[in-house]
Amino acid sequence: MTTAVFPGSFDPPTLGHVDLAERGAHLFEHLIVAVLDNPDKTAMFTTAERVDLLKQCLGHLSNVEITSFGGLLVDFAHASGATALLRGLRAVSDFEYEFQMALMNRRLEGTVETVFLMPREDCVFLSSRIVKQIHAFGRVPPNLVPPAVEEAMRKRLKGNRT
Ligand code: ADP
Repeated sequence: MTTAVFPGSFDPPTLGHVDLAERGAHLFEHLIVAVLDNPDKTAMFTTAERVDLLKQCLGHLSNVEITSFGGLLVDFAHASGATALLRGLRAVSDFEYEFQMALMNRRLEGTVETVFLMPREDCVFLSSRIVKQIHAFGRVPPNLVPPAVEEAMRKRLKGNRT
């Protein structure tokens, strides 16, 4: 079975993440969407909340598993039996960082290859960072995040915990 890990912060999950997970689920027999458990005071959602939101957004993909991980990504991937890392390439601005990470990960664990996929055109300029910045000013941008995330972001604005 070919297993791939799709790692990231997913703070919050966006339609770009969903698009990439759908493409990965089509390409690999088993896809592990893995939320990096990295305590961050500026985070919108906790790691557990992000895992829960991703489960709601990706429930339609039967070969996708959602989990969190700490430590080095290649160690987690190797321990999970994965032979690939899935990453998204949006604009050229992603390239340099991703290229460096892919080569370092290959140096650390030669059995794991990094695979890059492009999202659909309307997600090319979409990032969690920009969604988070707009949310910090009290707005939830329309049609950029899945409905479950939109609802959780609205609740957060009202001061309720999800
Ligand atoms: P990071 O914290 O590494 O920036 P994110 O948590 O934002 O990553 O995203 C995880 C993965 O999803 C990365 O590979 C990133 O390139 C990809 N990704 C994020 N947003 C999009 C998008 N709009 N289209 C395609 N891929 C995306």
